[in-house]
Amino acid sequence: MIVLLLGAPGAGKGTHAARIADHTGLPHVSSGELLRGAVERKTELGVKAKEHMDAGSLVPDEFMLAWIEELLDDSVYESGIILDGFPRTVPQAEGLDKLLAAKGLATDLVLLLDITQDAAAERLLSRVTCGKCGAIHNLAQKPMEVPGICDACGGELETRADDVRETIEKRFVEFRKQTEPMIEYYRSRGNFETINTNRAVDAVRQDIRDLLDRVSAATS
Ligand code: ATP
Ligand code: MG
Repeated sequence: MIVLLLGAPGAGKGTHAARIADHTGLPHVSSGELLRGAVERKTELGVKAKEHMDAGSLVPDEFMLAWIEELLDDSVYESGIILDGFPRTVPQAEGLDKLLAAKGLATDLVLLLDITQDAAAERLLSRVTCGKCGAIHNLAQKPMEVPGICDACGGELETRADDVRETIEKRFVEFRKQTEPMIEYYRSRGNFETINTNRAVDAVRQDIRDLLDRVSAATS
């Protein structure tokens, strides 16, 4: 099963992708996380991506398309994939469709996580990530037992460099300009569902599970 998670910054893509991965056993790939790893390791892609990410703009399509082509050649993804953060532009969506079609595949579910900009921005400003286990926490919703330390694994918590007000604004501008037209592209093509994520995580998770169970029953 191939699932695409779309949504504005802060919509909950990473949070729910991890839960969908647990529920389905499918591998979860976050383009943002992989890019942050490349930036840290100073790979060729990381060096190119850093200036765009720090500015709140998107990494150019040519790099992202080369990245997805290489990724999909990995046999790990033969049984399916949950893609979080990719595609993000119409050319990326078209490129992905072509790559999948060449393998005789197509997306089974395109899921838009829908939230208002104000609610998403509030979440981004109180979001921290564990440097050790990668868990995403929201301190406004649930403070940690020990401040600065991950409740799940005891690792140190980090704030993303782009989760500051000015960069968040720019990410929303990019979302409206580049990603919203892509959402319309998918909306008109079927297999498209929307879930309101401006609710408690567990309620959203249950709705996504019900939806996935319906989709996987229909595709198997
Ligand atoms: P959230 O983590 O809440 O989903 P987000 O969607 O803004 O927020 P990431 O998906 O982690 O964050 O992406 C962080 C940054 O990485 C983006 O702002 C962009 O610069 C870059 N990036 C990630 N995926 C892509 C992509 N498909 N195309 C271009 N740039 C990307
Ligand atoms: Mg993310």
